[in-house]
Amino acid sequence: MQLTLLGTGCPKIDCHRFGPANLISTSKVKLLIDCGSGVTQRLEQAKVSSTKIDALLLTHLHSDHVIDIYQLIISSWHLYRSKPWKVYGPKGTKRFIKSIMKAWKIEKEQRIKYEKRFSTKAFNIKIQEFKKYGKIKIKDLVFEYFEVDHKPVKYAYGFNFHHKRKKITISGDTRPCNNLMKYAQKTDVLLHEVFIEGELKPIRRKVSNKTLHNVKSYHTSSEDVGKIAKISQAKKLVLTHFVPPKFNEQKLINIIKKDFGRKPIIGKDLLKITL
Ligand SMILES: [Zn+2]
Ligand SMILES: [Zn+2]
Repeated sequence: MQLTLLGTGCPKIDCHRFGPANLISTSKVKLLIDCGSGVTQRLEQAKVSSTKIDALLLTHLHSDHVIDIYQLIISSWHLYRSKPWKVYGPKGTKRFIKSIMKAWKIEKEQRIKYEKRFSTKAFNIKIQEFKKYGKIKIKDLVFEYFEVDHKPVKYAYGFNFHHKRKKITISGDTRPCNNLMKYAQKTDVLLHEVFIEGELKPIRRKVSNKTLHNVKSYHTSSEDVGKIAKISQAKKLVLTHFVPPKFNEQKLINIIKKDFGRKPIIGKDLLKITL
């Protein structure tokens, strides 16, 4: 099983850290997790065609995680995708994707009619919304979804991927969360989001202390993420979704190493981890 980090950034634009997205692949399955800004360019760089992706999984419906959904669909059509899309996501995913497709309906129909491409199956989207917890098998891979705590976002999920006795856990966006630590137990790789303490300062008339406090409090801070990995008994901790995307890497490694007992891996776009 392989994990490819496609986008390790957050809503703030950064040319080295694109919007949140990851790919899980085995020899038989390719799953895209989230669909942040620039995901299709990163897939191209990772030499993965969107025609080959079996399913898209969404952790939650925050814009930084879903902004490129239409770009993914339309570009897969241009790449001659000949099968429908399967999307798994939280409650609200059906309504959300339907409204994206509705916004592009006129343009799409004109294109289909005029360009006369071989297949329009890429525009067929099958959507399954998550319950509280579930386990889904796709060919040789099993994924588990479980709730995490990203309130006020009501429906937010983390994932476990199981393949040949190996396990990869993706936290999604969450504040420190017992459910995550429960499901991440003894994972081979914990890919966790992080809010880096001390890197963001208030700016007069732009960023208030209240804003910084609120942003921090629905994410997991650098003071906590090492402890979470330790309690989860994760073999490897990989960090992603860096808020902010530019920060002092060595300082972050030192803080987390103290809690986790091992050095974390600072995720980078296009980093691959093979188990
Ligand atoms: Zn979020
Ligand atoms: Zn996010």
